[in-house]
Amino acid sequence: MELWFTEEHTPNVRFTIKIDKHIHSEQSPFQRIDFFDSYEFGRFFALDGIVMLTEKDEFIYHEMIVHVPMAVNPNIKKVLVIGGGDGGTVRELTRYGTVESIEMVEIDQRVVECCREFLPLTSSKLDDPRVKLLFEDGIKYVSTKQNEYDLIIVDSTDPIGPGEGLFTEEFYKNCYNALNEEGILVNQHESVYYDNTTRLAVRTHKRIKKFFPIAKVYQAAIPTYGSGYWLFGFASKKYDPIKDFDDRAWNELGLDTKYYNTELHKGAFALPNYVIETFED
Ligand code: SAM
Repeated sequence: MELWFTEEHTPNVRFTIKIDKHIHSEQSPFQRIDFFDSYEFGRFFALDGIVMLTEKDEFIYHEMIVHVPMAVNPNIKKVLVIGGGDGGTVRELTRYGTVESIEMVEIDQRVVECCREFLPLTSSKLDDPRVKLLFEDGIKYVSTKQNEYDLIIVDSTDPIGPGEGLFTEEFYKNCYNALNEEGILVNQHESVYYDNTTRLAVRTHKRIKKFFPIAKVYQAAIPTYGSGYWLFGFASKKYDPIKDFDDRAWNELGLDTKYYNTELHKGAFALPNYVIETFED
């Protein structure tokens, strides 16, 4: 018997992975959580049927969501991660000795517990002494903060279910207020290849631009996300991700990465024409 996991990327396109074993399934108070072992992508997990990460390509997403802002401002000390329950974003952040505190606000404690059990390498740094785990709604949490963080990373699910409020204008305004004068906001920004996510990405960008003087998007090729072409948002009060980027300083850190490098950093902001036009329209 053959087992296949299928995710609908659009009503007309499906992405299917051959499964070796379905190793865990549960309904948490927030979402359905499933873990699988696959032949091509290794172990992976899905929330409400949408792939969150696979062992084979998670390095791309986590390196790009962390190293881009860290390379723009090497003095980042205080970080807030919203979502990110698998721990991959925290793992990359803990590689910087300069980072003093990482608050991770994840709404679903079960995601963290399951990832500790089934994805020990991705979640390996959640016990770093600089990390504080909070199991609550990131939307409410950020609204209580003023002028506190150097960096906020929104490592969220898509804007359905508990992640919906992480794409609203009010949320971005609260992020702006929670950041200090030098603050940077990075978020997973959906994709602009298929129409269904294009609308979300364009709306997200417009909302962020209302509050942040610098708001750009950058790209990465992530095979298991819709269309394989994914975007991140970079918004800041002060730093331009290219003009203020000191590639020498980052290279001197000697971090070993599998996807990110300082040439790719510049290229990630050089968008294809159809993407530029989509955002201009
Ligand atoms: N890399 C992933 C992707 O884009 O597919 C996202 C990974 S991470 C698992 C997303 C996390 O965001 C989930 O664990 C989910 O529980 C969490 N989340 C969703 N809404 C949230 C909210 N309002 N506050 C805090 N965490 C939230």
